[in-house]
Amino acid sequence: AGTGKFFVGGNWKCNGTKDSITKLVADLNDAKLENNVDIVVAPPYIYVDQVKQSLTDHIEISAQNCWVGKGGAFTGEISAEQLIDIGCKWVILGHSERRHIIGEDDQFIGKKAAFALSQNLKVIACIGEKLEERETGKTFDVCFQQMKSFADIILNWMDVVIAYEPVWAIGTGKVATPQQAQEVHAAIRDWLKKNVSAEVASSIRIIYGGSVNGSNCSELAKQQDIDGFLVGGASLKGSEFAIIVNSVT
Ligand code: PEP
Repeated sequence: AGTGKFFVGGNWKCNGTKDSITKLVADLNDAKLENNVDIVVAPPYIYVDQVKQSLTDHIEISAQNCWVGKGGAFTGEISAEQLIDIGCKWVILGHSERRHIIGEDDQFIGKKAAFALSQNLKVIACIGEKLEERETGKTFDVCFQQMKSFADIILNWMDVVIAYEPVWAIGTGKVATPQQAQEVHAAIRDWLKKNVSAEVASSIRIIYGGSVNGSNCSELAKQQDIDGFLVGGASLKGSEFAIIVNSVT
């Protein structure tokens, strides 16, 4: 792991019911979780209140998305102010499913991040290349371009965690090797050093996401520039999520 406090986020995506979430929360409340880890879970919006009321305070709550600006006449959207109001501390922005299924672009995501931060919502900023981009040697270009869209508009990086999530590894069972992940994490840190500041580069947490599970987390966690994980599928099982949290080295 890197020098920042280990960070593990669970992205529940569009999964769960009142009953299954009650069980997941109970399992998380019963789990033995390392103290020196920042732990966050991101339920679907409609269950945020239920989770907030029942989950241990040791785990903070994130939304999976938010509107780009102040609330108002934006049917179907949820604003950053509303997320704060309901007890969210974090929001995931730029997740590959929002980029590539819903069609959000770099600039829109950057604006969302800046607005969320202005409302004191902390941001998990996701970046990552698609398979054909990796295969054609464009991994760094794509990641740096996505980083630039955040850097063009974010002034204060204190409340930002970067999630490197190669699209080909998300939900596919095809995890990046520890070396593949470390290589990109180190490159992102170097990019931040050159384009933002040495201080941000050394203090920011860069977490890895993409088919992380209870069996592959500890090798990944040993890498110098991996400061934690963003976990999808494996975060839906309390006991497995606890193993990932406890992989802190
Ligand atoms: C994610 O959606 O952020 C993710 C990493 O998913 P999974 O762990 O299921 O690959």
